[in-house]
Amino acid sequence: MSIRTALPFTIPLLALLITGCDQSALQSSSTSSAANINTSSTASTNSENHTGKAGLSAKMRFSKLDIQVEGSLTPGSTAYLSVETQGNLPPEQTHVRLTLPELAALKARKEGKLAKLAPGKPLPAQGSWRGAMGSSQTLQQQTTVHIKEPGYYQVIASASAENGDVRTKNGEWIKNTASQSVWLWVTEAGGKVTEQFDRSLFPDGARQQPGPLTMKDERPKLPVVNARPSSQKTRLNSTGVTTIYIDYINQTTHSPEPLSGARVSYTVYDGLGRKRSSSTEVIDDNGNVAIPCYSDDIHGPGSYSGTIHVQDNYRLRVYHPQTGSDVVGSFSGEFATDCGQQIPVRAAYKMSQVFMRMSETIEKSRSFFQEQRGKIHVKLNWNADNSYYCDGFNAWGPCTGTKEKIVIKDRPGDDPNSHIGGQFGDLVVAHEYGHAMHEEALNGNAASGECPSPHYLDGAHNLQCAYSEGFANYHGAVGVNNSNSYVGYFENNLFYSADHGGGDPNDGSIIEGAVAAFLWDLTDPADESHDNAYYPGSYVADIIKTCKTDGSRANGADQLIACFQSQVPSYAGYFNTRSSQPSSFSESATEPSSWSRTDVKTLWRKNLYGETYNGPPLTLSVSGPQILDEGEMGTWTASPSNGSGSYNYDWEIQKTLGGSWINVCGSSSSCSWNSGQISQSLDARTQVTVQSGSESASANKSFLVNNNGGDPGCDGISPSRICP
Ligand SMILES: [Zn+2]
Repeated sequence: MSIRTALPFTIPLLALLITGCDQSALQSSSTSSAANINTSSTASTNSENHTGKAGLSAKMRFSKLDIQVEGSLTPGSTAYLSVETQGNLPPEQTHVRLTLPELAALKARKEGKLAKLAPGKPLPAQGSWRGAMGSSQTLQQQTTVHIKEPGYYQVIASASAENGDVRTKNGEWIKNTASQSVWLWVTEAGGKVTEQFDRSLFPDGARQQPGPLTMKDERPKLPVVNARPSSQKTRLNSTGVTTIYIDYINQTTHSPEPLSGARVSYTVYDGLGRKRSSSTEVIDDNGNVAIPCYSDDIHGPGSYSGTIHVQDNYRLRVYHPQTGSDVVGSFSGEFATDCGQQIPVRAAYKMSQVFMRMSETIEKSRSFFQEQRGKIHVKLNWNADNSYYCDGFNAWGPCTGTKEKIVIKDRPGDDPNSHIGGQFGDLVVAHEYGHAMHEEALNGNAASGECPSPHYLDGAHNLQCAYSEGFANYHGAVGVNNSNSYVGYFENNLFYSADHGGGDPNDGSIIEGAVAAFLWDLTDPADESHDNAYYPGSYVADIIKTCKTDGSRANGADQLIACFQSQVPSYAGYFNTRSSQPSSFSESATEPSSWSRTDVKTLWRKNLYGETYNGPPLTLSVSGPQILDEGEMGTWTASPSNGSGSYNYDWEIQKTLGGSWINVCGSSSSCSWNSGQISQSLDARTQVTVQSGSESASANKSFLVNNNGGDPGCDGISPSRICP
């Protein structure tokens, strides 16, 4: 006679995004212990996503993972185990494993090895299968097992996507693993399958432990710790945590600092080395990740192991040059000794350096320009001649056929030719992200791909190259630490005039360093004599996004200037490499309240051409009466424009043409005067001279004073006039 035993399971595959210290690890299944039901059911999927502190949610790769057991479950009989896995996402190579930890431990003992299984190492598998599995596809696998001794044995099924590193889909994290377990109670009378470890099955006097059945007066057959009988449940010790502190050596300051914002993936094992839970956490600002200590009353304290990944949630992933991996460190330990402790771990410095500088750049760029783009992949490369950005669609040298990415030049060891660490290395990281941000967040880079190789900060190349690279340099200055010396180089326009390239060394519109200095001055404080502009970065971003000349996206500093200046600039003597000047421009940025055409013009004349431009010349006009009666008061007003803000006025009157000038009215902007008694009509003029800064201008206005024969008064030239 044989008993067919099959057990259905409906177990939610939980999103393993454990938040803080108040969240349990992988939860055990529901408590249904119905047996002898010859069907299987589907595990529920991700209808409810768990959101972690980092704002993540997960999508399940596997919608179903069932274990079925058939057989009498008597000692020495054959048990037929089958696993059914169903996919929920596009095809991926999948690895399904079936393990029986107690059986594996018994085998290890018999081979003369330590019976305790090493934490962090996979258990020897009873069955292991690989195959591609896509959405709604199922894998069904079978194996058999002979359990010789009566006892209680766990069966664990796990499924994982190969290459199943943490990934996202539509902004959701994909959970690429699933696991499921049942317990086999093996006894002479015929066994059963339970979903949970059920102590009530043990006969009186037996040790209530997994593995071969042993009585309390027998030696344990498996090396287990003393059971604490109080609790029936596996529990997570929520009061105790092991804190992993992760730092790296900053290659610019040469001192250690926390690797904040990167991910740590860890796995927790029980006292027998069985995987109990896994999680991915973001390292906090202080460099810490807390792992809740694990202990259960069957096996005592467990252990943990983890890996450190230079990847954050949605913005950035840095790869290792050879392996394509983002791992910069690993750790492991035992809760028995580490619980409540802070365990320091140092991450590999190069990838950490690039990750941290890139993280800071992204942070600064987003807040400064008020623009953001999707995740960028950054690869370190020992073989690269230079660092570069691949936009993912233009065929250019090493970018041909590749996806979008940034490549940072590395060299083995501490070779100073690498772009990792130091002022220039840090600038390069922020520069390359500038290209990536320009391409994806600023409506595409209309000037890309026009640079010669190599090109120089102080090279006179062409308008497109200078604009594309100039923006990246400007972004670099925005994205690095303020103490980076390149910030000062751009501020002081050190790369003008050019020392490289075949173009006119005094034409800054084709020099990337000069274009960067112009953009920098637009948004840095108005702290130089030629710099009155202090505009928000979002204004520059909006101009770049929307500026068109003659209907096409701007692809040079000259065309951008038309938009910044709200006027096509004069091309006479400027922008000589452009074959024709645009006749129209358009942009939809909002001009800042302090915007001034003169300030914009002053900046580009200075940074691109080394000229001092103080705005258009001072101009002046005078308004006032043209005819007065004898003794009637006339008032004239001067209206200057384009001055430097403050004006001094000097008024004079000439009573007869060619006569002498008399000073009247002083330094006010308007002047009132009357002729008093006169004996003949006056053909008079008023003149005002305005001084503003170093400029002065004069204007005059003629007027007639009517002689009323010694009788001052309004004699009706115009009845509407008011006389004194
Ligand atoms: Zn560049």
